[in-house]
Amino acid sequence: MTRYFEVQQRDGAARIGKLLLKQTIRTPYIIDTRSLSSPQSPIIDGGSLWKYGTFEKAEEHLRELRKIAGEDAIIILPHQDLTPDAPHEIAPRSAESSEFESVGATGTVCISGQKVKEHDLYVMEGAGCLENNARLFLSTLTGMRREISPDAAIYAPNICTPENLAMLAYLGIDVFDSTRAITAAYSDIYLTTAGKFHLDSLAELPCRCNACSSTDPASMMAMDRKSRAMLLEQHNINAIEAEAALVREKIRRGMLREYAEGQCRVHPWLTALLRLSDAEYDYMESKSPIARNNELIATCSESQNRVEIVRFARRIQERYTPPHADILLLLPCSAKKPYSTSNSHWKFINALGKNRKYVHEVIITSPLGIVPRELELTYPAAHYDTTVTGHWDAEEKEWVSACLENYLSQHRYTAIVAHVEDAYRQICEMVATRIGISMIYTSLGNVTSQESLKKLSETVSALSTGRKRSHEQTQKDLMKAVADFQFGKGTGERLVPDDSTIRGPFPKHQVFVGKKQLVTLIPQYGTLAITIDGAKALIGQGKYIVEIDDFVPRGSLLAPGVVDADPLIRPNDEVLVSGKNAIAVGRANMSGDEMKRSTRGVAVDLRHVIKIEG
Ligand SMILES: [Zn+2]
Repeated sequence: MTRYFEVQQRDGAARIGKLLLKQTIRTPYIIDTRSLSSPQSPIIDGGSLWKYGTFEKAEEHLRELRKIAGEDAIIILPHQDLTPDAPHEIAPRSAESSEFESVGATGTVCISGQKVKEHDLYVMEGAGCLENNARLFLSTLTGMRREISPDAAIYAPNICTPENLAMLAYLGIDVFDSTRAITAAYSDIYLTTAGKFHLDSLAELPCRCNACSSTDPASMMAMDRKSRAMLLEQHNINAIEAEAALVREKIRRGMLREYAEGQCRVHPWLTALLRLSDAEYDYMESKSPIARNNELIATCSESQNRVEIVRFARRIQERYTPPHADILLLLPCSAKKPYSTSNSHWKFINALGKNRKYVHEVIITSPLGIVPRELELTYPAAHYDTTVTGHWDAEEKEWVSACLENYLSQHRYTAIVAHVEDAYRQICEMVATRIGISMIYTSLGNVTSQESLKKLSETVSALSTGRKRSHEQTQKDLMKAVADFQFGKGTGERLVPDDSTIRGPFPKHQVFVGKKQLVTLIPQYGTLAITIDGAKALIGQGKYIVEIDDFVPRGSLLAPGVVDADPLIRPNDEVLVSGKNAIAVGRANMSGDEMKRSTRGVAVDLRHVIKIEG
């Protein structure tokens, strides 16, 4: 429980927060390391247990410190100071640092495997020693996050440099310090986001901050050692501060992943952190929003392992049910999104003509894998941009093939038509061989040529004898697929029942039962917004529900008002709020787990609330 830290914005595991101390501090934040020993500072180090000798003396010192500092300063309780691999038995009264009592804001050094009490700030023990050890750094961090409250801040001491700050913030570190910037300065090391340089190896200074703008490397080398270190320190601190500001901007835009994918190339251990964190799918996924406001940019091989891509593929596998159709048509993706607005897809649709009602369309694409036509609007299907060279690497082909293979193993059709070329065709052939099915290929060298389109038209026409779908059924299938994708299998039946009608042109569909509107499709994200009547239809399913006590919420629901929340809820999910005296619908601001365990912050932005008359 914390009264002193509030998370305001989230971008995956990264967040922007506010430490509400004697002065308000915005995180990700860099502590001036030298200020840690001053009782006037907002964050104070209570010192090492080695220094005090006995627990009682440390306690006495802590009381004195609190008297001067006041309650609204975080005091990091006296700690044992060991490297992570030192045997903890040798520490003075080890494990007892968590027994200190102190009123006001507190921090504690988190020792792996040791239970901790509630604090506002947790210090990652020996973080600096974990540099270059991506596996241990990540397991220490995820271990801490599991133990501590989601609305407590994590401080990684003695590790921050301009090159690693983005990656460490991406993984969920909130607080850093200037130790490395200072010590580097005294070794003539010039820090940049692109790595460190020995000052005497530089021909020019690649920075225009106030420390660098009026000097050059040669003049600096000519200075006396102390003046040079002071100037260098000023630059090094400017460099981490500038990077922290950039990282905060990236978090605000929901684009820290894209930045971290580039920035991690500066050092192999940072690239290792990116790859290993992708393998920690549950840790990253549970914190990642269901949709973002901007484009997802996939530019490297790791992009296909990011949460949004893997989650999309998993949901197709676990939540999606294809409409009733006998013919599957596999199509290539288009640069323009949604695909159906592209020139090439217009041509395919025209070629199908009236026979389109017999066909179910699935689009093959990298890095998303496969996108059923019904989900082409749904984030990130209409929101990604990727590097197009015409060449697909082996991993890319393997990933997309696996998605297609999985789909075709689950869902059967009487005929599969593949209107594809190049890598798309290789993928289809690979999958067909692997699972022993046959596909009819209709493209003759170029998918949009007259001959290819004619062959597509004739092939589908000859096959079109089975089940067909009306225009309204196709619209309903879209709404059902989005409902299932968003809220889980079977939801489509509840939100788009047989007696429902669809109003509004594509993509602004609305589902009505009689005069009651249940949902609206939000074209921007390809997700559904629920009405109160929609909430009533959905509530029996027992999912995506935030339970509250017997009050009537207004505007926004705060975390302390949440009694229980579905652990499936992710930031930006549409949720139902249910209490004794009210039903409401809105958009989640944090994950279900976080709203249940947090004591501060907006849990749900409410859109509609109705009072239940008792
Ligand atoms: Zn500079």
